[in-house]
Amino acid sequence: MGAATKSSTTHTPVKGRCAAIRRKLDGFPRVRLGHLPTPLEPLDRLTAHLGGPRIWVKRDDCTGLSTGGNKTRKLEFLMAEAQQAGADCVITQGATQSNHARQTAAAAARLGFGCHILLEDRTGYSDPDYVDNGNVLLDRLHGATVDRRPGGADMQAEMEALADQLRADGRKPYVIPGGGSTPVGALGYVNCALELATQADDLGLKIDALVHATGSAGTQAGLVAGLAAIESDIDLLGIGVRAPREQQEAMVFELATRTMDCLGGGLDVARERVRANCDYIGQGYGFPTDAMRDAVTLLARLEGLLFDPVYSGKGLSGLIDLVSKGHYADARNVVFLHTGGSASLFGYPAHF
Ligand SMILES: *Cc1c(COP(=O)(O)O)cnc(C)c1O
Repeated sequence: MGAATKSSTTHTPVKGRCAAIRRKLDGFPRVRLGHLPTPLEPLDRLTAHLGGPRIWVKRDDCTGLSTGGNKTRKLEFLMAEAQQAGADCVITQGATQSNHARQTAAAAARLGFGCHILLEDRTGYSDPDYVDNGNVLLDRLHGATVDRRPGGADMQAEMEALADQLRADGRKPYVIPGGGSTPVGALGYVNCALELATQADDLGLKIDALVHATGSAGTQAGLVAGLAAIESDIDLLGIGVRAPREQQEAMVFELATRTMDCLGGGLDVARERVRANCDYIGQGYGFPTDAMRDAVTLLARLEGLLFDPVYSGKGLSGLIDLVSKGHYADARNVVFLHTGGSASLFGYPAHF
């Protein structure tokens, strides 16, 4: 990246720490899938509207594959692992409007793998747009097979059963857990932490806080590990979309610790650096809230940006509410990590 060439003349402590961790990341197999670095942009009209700290957006909705999103960074490491394992197809799972499934289908297409997707019906919605449009349309367009399972099914066991079946047919499947949230997948967000710190350093920007939607925990775990590894004091907050706070934080902490172990070097993750706010979930995962709809509509009209009903829209509704309550009164610069998901808007047209 630019930092590597520039750092010989403008070497800062941040860049030195990033370079050390980047060397560790370079030791892992990785296929380049994303358009990186993603842009870091100020949201001036939202900032003026909210009247609080300056709000920035880190555009991981622009990672490039099939309308983008956060799973692409994880898939750079996961698909490389699949290649190394000699796999010829991948299996993954998610909710009906899974962005992870769609990005996995696209990555598989790009690399010449077969792709088998199991979709769990977590909402019970029968609207044809929800069932077959949005991400599901794209899953199929990328050539993935799509099969459904009822809500509450043991999806990991369902994937293992499918893998056995494929092996019996002479295939070599590689199973990617939901959300790609393994230590290897989370390395993609260690990389994002380095990328963001480098961008801020280049801009002379002091980021006080970083906020994003957290679900299967890999994104936050990678960021926690990455920020800890470079000794960043950015205040990170995940806005939960599924589990209650204690459970979410425990998931993130456990995965962040394993990600740090995977990275090596004997570094630790402090439990208090793992923070989630799960007050914006509403009825449950995948069920729209009024605040989400207002936030998605506001950003579409103020900034020309698209967020999604399940993740980034709820995350944004949390950020907006926290800013309006003065939670970030002492902060000057707050970054919202846009994790993508706009394709799922087309699965929820009736809610807008
Ligand atoms: C998967 C996803 C998230 C949550 O990321 P996790 O790593 O699963 O916590 C956030 N936003 C979007 C749009 C997603 O698809």
